[in-house]
Amino acid sequence: MENYAKLLARMKEIGHLSSAAAVLGWDQQCYMPPGGAPERAEQLALLGTLAHEKFTDESTGALLAAAEAEVALLDDGSDEKLTLRVLRRDYDQAVKIPASLVAELAKAEALGHEVWVQAREKSDFAHFAPTLEKILELSRQKAQYLGYEDHPYNALLDRYEPGATVAQVDRVFAELRGGLVELVAYIKTRPQVSDKPLRRGFPEQGQRTFAEAVIAKMGFDFDRGRQDKAVHPFCTSFGKDDVRITTRYETDWLPAALMGTIHETGHALYEQGFQEKDTNTPLGGAVSLGIHESQSRLWENIVGRSRAFWDIHYGELQLTFPGALDDVSVNDFYRAINKVEPSFIRVEADEATYCLHVMLRYEIEKRMVAGELAVADVPGAWNALMEEYLGVTPDSDANGCLQDVHWSSGLFGYFPTYALGTMLASQLYDKATGDNPQIKTDLNKGEFASLLAWLRTNVHAPGRRYLPAELVERVCGEPAQSRSYLKYLNDKFRAIYE
Ligand code: ZN
Repeated sequence: MENYAKLLARMKEIGHLSSAAAVLGWDQQCYMPPGGAPERAEQLALLGTLAHEKFTDESTGALLAAAEAEVALLDDGSDEKLTLRVLRRDYDQAVKIPASLVAELAKAEALGHEVWVQAREKSDFAHFAPTLEKILELSRQKAQYLGYEDHPYNALLDRYEPGATVAQVDRVFAELRGGLVELVAYIKTRPQVSDKPLRRGFPEQGQRTFAEAVIAKMGFDFDRGRQDKAVHPFCTSFGKDDVRITTRYETDWLPAALMGTIHETGHALYEQGFQEKDTNTPLGGAVSLGIHESQSRLWENIVGRSRAFWDIHYGELQLTFPGALDDVSVNDFYRAINKVEPSFIRVEADEATYCLHVMLRYEIEKRMVAGELAVADVPGAWNALMEEYLGVTPDSDANGCLQDVHWSSGLFGYFPTYALGTMLASQLYDKATGDNPQIKTDLNKGEFASLLAWLRTNVHAPGRRYLPAELVERVCGEPAQSRSYLKYLNDKFRAIYE
């Protein structure tokens, strides 16, 4: 097992390079003064290049092949075999894309971001169109180099959700879409809920104190993580023993930081939950963006927006903001944080409409990648689908097809993972509470340890041992489905909007 050991030592070094880059990236978003940007870009580029070169080097390929020969007789379920399966996948993909294309994409994305910012500010799609054209073309080239069956989008999707295909995603999204459109249409016929109580003044310090107490109870380990402020909330990890989350406070909109913090904590609990023995190995990481998002959505929505959660925690929230919520009952507060209203902006969308926003983007980028939709026709297609799915038409492209950063960053294939994860959260929760009914009893008491323990064992501990679809099958005994999520939404929102 000499070559296997050497290969793992190399992967550990590459992991350290990536972690160091992640620290610099975290600092850039949380603390770096603007003047540091040019130097930081060079530092990040150097670390990225070093890691990429070390990984795609022919000697890594030779070590990998030699290690595969060494473990050939081991059981397919052994950690060694599973480790090499992950590495083989990563390596084959990484070496397929020429360095020149990687560099060209990086440059187009760096320039593209600035152009997108300007275009969104002016709500001027024509300003962004040539940039989008360029990034789309390079992404299509990337798909060709990676190779695919059936649909070029499969190659791009696979980068974020290994093994997932357009055919599978189309199938579950079709079921999901029908159910969501019907639910949203029903809610529209009901008297609207008021979210005014959430728009009163909530000082930042109180928001922070309350949210940090909640996430500590949920199991976020502050000895192995911390929280800071950033313009765009995110979670990043430098290894399972140092996981960072960020949040953004809005004093006149309580859910931004509160629910955002719980969301990022869901991601962080996953990152803190990998096994000690997998540290610095290819197995000690997240399996996919969809699985990652299932964790954040489960904690944010199913736990954090539940009636049980607020029955326990609302009194403490009222005490944190003296006077602000005295006239608001827990029932009105619960309804307020669950208000459903079709709107233009995805990141502000409620639980019932969120996935419709995602499916719309998926449809559009799938057609663009296949060459079925011209860039110039994106705004029209966007607005038509908004009307079809959500019954609203954006008042501007800034509030329509220019709202998300993803396309300017070359992230084609990323969007569907948001909806896949959201859906999966319900499926996992159903399985967890079926396996261990005590979980529900505990949640009703504001105790989270039994839920976290189930997630640790079933979802976190496996790390990257299985592809996402394999993990779902192993844990749930069936493929990913929309049934659990639609039932959860219908039970919850038909009661709120009865
Ligand atoms: Zn997330």
